[in-house]
Amino acid sequence: MMKYPIFIAVIAFIVAGNAVTQTHAQETITVVYDDGRRADEISAWRLDSESEELFFRANDVARIFKATQFWNASTRKVVRGIHRTRFTITVDTRVVVIDGDPIMLRNDVRYDSGFVMIPMEFLLDIVPPYTLNLLNWDPNTNTLVVEKVGYNVTRLTFATTAERSTATIDLGEPLLHHVDSSTPGLVRLKLYGGRIDTEAFEVSDAHGLFDKVRAEQTDRDAYVYFDIKRYTSRVVVEREESPPKILVILEKGELPEIPEPEYAGKKRVEVVDRRSVERKRLRIETVVLDPGHGGKDHGKTGVTGVLEKDVNLDIAKKTRDVLIQELGVQVVLTREDDRLLSLTKRTELANQIEGDLFISIHCNSWFSDETGGFEAYFLSPARTEWDRAVAMAENAADDFFDTATDAASDIDFILWDIVQNEFINESSHFAELLQKAMNERLSIRNRGVKQANFTVLQGAHMPAVLVETAFLSNPEEEQLLVNEEFQTRVAEGIADAVRKFKERYGR
Ligand SMILES: [Zn+2]
Repeated sequence: MMKYPIFIAVIAFIVAGNAVTQTHAQETITVVYDDGRRADEISAWRLDSESEELFFRANDVARIFKATQFWNASTRKVVRGIHRTRFTITVDTRVVVIDGDPIMLRNDVRYDSGFVMIPMEFLLDIVPPYTLNLLNWDPNTNTLVVEKVGYNVTRLTFATTAERSTATIDLGEPLLHHVDSSTPGLVRLKLYGGRIDTEAFEVSDAHGLFDKVRAEQTDRDAYVYFDIKRYTSRVVVEREESPPKILVILEKGELPEIPEPEYAGKKRVEVVDRRSVERKRLRIETVVLDPGHGGKDHGKTGVTGVLEKDVNLDIAKKTRDVLIQELGVQVVLTREDDRLLSLTKRTELANQIEGDLFISIHCNSWFSDETGGFEAYFLSPARTEWDRAVAMAENAADDFFDTATDAASDIDFILWDIVQNEFINESSHFAELLQKAMNERLSIRNRGVKQANFTVLQGAHMPAVLVETAFLSNPEEEQLLVNEEFQTRVAEGIADAVRKFKERYGR
């Protein structure tokens, strides 16, 4: 069953007051769909003489994406549900709030002659990652092609023998995965960048050791949940590359004749992720802490003038102390003092000393002084505009060097593929541990684990994450960031995550 029915609501935008009618360059756009809908002719306008941006009427945008929408005349906000995501747009601002997270457009949303006018950027770049649509714009023919990307997690089949039951998931393209069975009786498979037909993966009858299956789609990833029978002794996850498949294999154990108490309920089982164990086992003996920025690169500046580079170094030093004291690991800082250091030098150093885990420490900033909280990132192509904006801001540190270093571009994805792909499972897992540990200790908002393309993480031959501890643009959080106790809590959070990570992967 679809959780959110999709329907079209065309709403007349009637607002009290007179809109000034101006003469604008109007163009006729042909919209072509590949899902069987008839081609459409709609109008678009260039509202500024300086900007080339085309603006579309909100009603037309809703029709293209089969969106629901609601207009609130007093707040001048449009809320629209597209696929499973809620977008809030406010007239005369550049802010789009996507499920609670703000991002910025290049141009204001406008109100003109009785219509809310939405810049084309919203259609081409902002919405598609949250839908199954891909939009292509051809300015030469004034044609907008709306393609259905479709699912890349396509089929689920079962096979059972006397010893084991196998669930095979067919993928449309190779997807990175993460498997977890921390809840007894449940195996959770996360597929990064997965787009899944949740109905097709809803299985309510048992197949061997599999009891039930269900799937979930988030804006970025797909999840498949397997309820497993209690006489499962081991879960093995394997990958096949061509055609891409993921196999979840449940091995049968002995069910004692007289049930022991633990068999009465659900029990924990060992999970073996073949891809992780094929590689040499990770050691967690040397942790590299990377205080972001330094020297003439101040990073972000707080409202009262606190500099990010100083906060990052303070937190890194406190983290080092806790790690050495409590875990007895070796800790190396990429910089011990206030100096300029290129992003590639930081990972070069980490590789030279053969670090086992790389943690880059930063503070966040945003245009609104109300935005706050912490975020943990691991490296992958940025999935949302927000992730991209944070990555761009951090990558800009290399603008302080004359020589051109790797900019955030598609080329980086190739580098990333070679170096970090190998560690994505561990990096994402560490980011999740970090997020949990920080959440237990900090009273500020938990903004979650995100994926972005940070230059500083690219070259690291080890699991690598970047943590944005709090927002310097938020006056309350700026005060926290210079507070000894808060810094110590962050340090303890990082150390706790390292401890759990070491227990999971270390010898
Ligand atoms: Zn930073």
